[in-house]
Amino acid sequence: MPKSRRLSDLACCYRVDGKKKFRLKEIDPGDTAGVESKEDATEQLAASVTALCELQEKLYAQGEWSLLLVFQALDAAGKDSTIKHVLSGVNPQGCCVTSFKVPSARELNHDFLWRAALALPERGQIGVFNRSYYEEVLVVRVHPQLLEKQKLPKPLVTGKIWKERFKSINDFERHLTHNGTIVLKFFLHVSREEQRKRLLERLRDKTKNWKFEIGDLAERKLWPRYMDAYEDMVQHTATECAPWHVVPADHKWFTRLVVSTAIIEKLRSLKLHFPTLTPDEKKALGVARAELTRDGA
Ligand code: ATP
Ligand code: MG
Repeated sequence: MPKSRRLSDLACCYRVDGKKKFRLKEIDPGDTAGVESKEDATEQLAASVTALCELQEKLYAQGEWSLLLVFQALDAAGKDSTIKHVLSGVNPQGCCVTSFKVPSARELNHDFLWRAALALPERGQIGVFNRSYYEEVLVVRVHPQLLEKQKLPKPLVTGKIWKERFKSINDFERHLTHNGTIVLKFFLHVSREEQRKRLLERLRDKTKNWKFEIGDLAERKLWPRYMDAYEDMVQHTATECAPWHVVPADHKWFTRLVVSTAIIEKLRSLKLHFPTLTPDEKKALGVARAELTRDGA
């Protein structure tokens, strides 16, 4: 990394907060922002993992804020491995990962935000959404026949539905942030060629065969439609209170570094601290200390 570039600037390069028009083509999936080698990044990531572990301890102990991390990407962009590496130092008691799949019959009997609301992190916790309610303006938009399964009253399914969903999402996220849940969203932006290589690798490597899904090839053919849907999604749902990070994803080591940097920067800005004791609580500790000391005598 160039000496002049501070690590915290890294996340800033890819943050989209709705202040200006967003164009997906301005983000190069192969970009590494001057970080020269995987070794450099791995060293930095190790330091970030330690920093995140310390911050999470305070988040948990303070029990006021919660953190929601949303990950969206096309297949093989590295969502799973990013979550695994970035959160590898975090105490499992303070973290919960939810993977959102095709909605169940029960989920389809509710509005599209319902299942996400059930999975939100408690105060002090980190909640990770591996895919999320954003599928509702991505896969559902690219495959409008999925809307038919959602049992929406017919008069509500109009040409305005995507704009209405963006608004529902923005309102939902604003509500969360006003109530102490920090929302950070990551779109891991992989190139079509890198996806092809990774899917081929899933076919070549026996230990990765299980990850290959034939359906992924059909989705791959819809690449331009997905790119349009992603661009529109970021354009309409990037806000100051719940920004997107559009992260280059052709180099997994770089993706992990950007994601961990963004999380650490945000948590640091909260000035988290261990709970401080009131004079009465301090007095009670003194009494307990005296009692335990006497016990051992
Ligand atoms: P991997 O990268 O390992 O394949 P994945 O996130 O793709 O992981 P899968 O179980 O393969 O996990 O896929 C989940 C599927 O569920 C995706 O195809 C996604 O588009 C779909 N899905 C998620 N939410 C919705 C939704 N609201 N409506 C329709 N499909 C959805
Ligand atoms: Mg998949």
